[in-house]
Amino acid sequence: MSLLDNKDNLKNLVEELNFKEKVERSKQLIKEAYERYGDSLVVANSLGKDSVAVWDLAKKVNPKIRGFIVTTRFKPAETVKFMNETVKRYPELRVYKNDSTIEDRLYETHPDLCCDILKVEPVKRAIEEMGVKCWVTGLRCTEGRTRTDFKEVEERDRGLIKLNPILIWKEREVWQYLALYQVPVNALYAEGYRSLGCEPCTKITNDDNERAGRWIGTSKCGGECGIHTRPLKTRV
Ligand code: SF4
Repeated sequence: MSLLDNKDNLKNLVEELNFKEKVERSKQLIKEAYERYGDSLVVANSLGKDSVAVWDLAKKVNPKIRGFIVTTRFKPAETVKFMNETVKRYPELRVYKNDSTIEDRLYETHPDLCCDILKVEPVKRAIEEMGVKCWVTGLRCTEGRTRTDFKEVEERDRGLIKLNPILIWKEREVWQYLALYQVPVNALYAEGYRSLGCEPCTKITNDDNERAGRWIGTSKCGGECGIHTRPLKTRV
């Protein structure tokens, strides 16, 4: 049976598999998905630690695998610098951005709308323009309260498969992978951030919840931008 069709108990696997077994499982998931979807498999690279681990795994599976980055006008300078370095190294990463006019400080008054315009819309465009049938993400089920129910292979939008190949990795295992394979990361992690996003909506915290520093003081605190919760297919 293909690993893509597995019905494994993921919560058990988080604890039962060791680091090497998780790395092999992730590579196998990407490999089988690439065999099934070919160049319509595309990695969504948010430039966070989880995404760069997935990008590195995908490149080990097949250097031809493509990807896209969604950026916004509010990304910190360090993230923009890291993005430019990454794209220079991997020109097969396409950058998507929404430059349309929005209300001042929309991220304070209506953060969901701000994320819809600046993040969800460019992801939809990337999926449409790149002909994506399977997108690969760096989601992890131990990352926070909103990420416990995802599966390794999902079809939330009909005709668009989402592959979450490192879903069962712990935060420590991501850093273990990045250190062992010397994968470059955003300089902001050295400042103490654990989860990176736009500058006005991201703070350093010592909370147990890895995403606790996101959208502090709003209804979205510790939550999601919408990329993983909103419909993404513009045409079915
Ligand atoms: S993270 Fe903040 S600034 Fe960035 S798109 Fe969402 S609400 Fe807007």
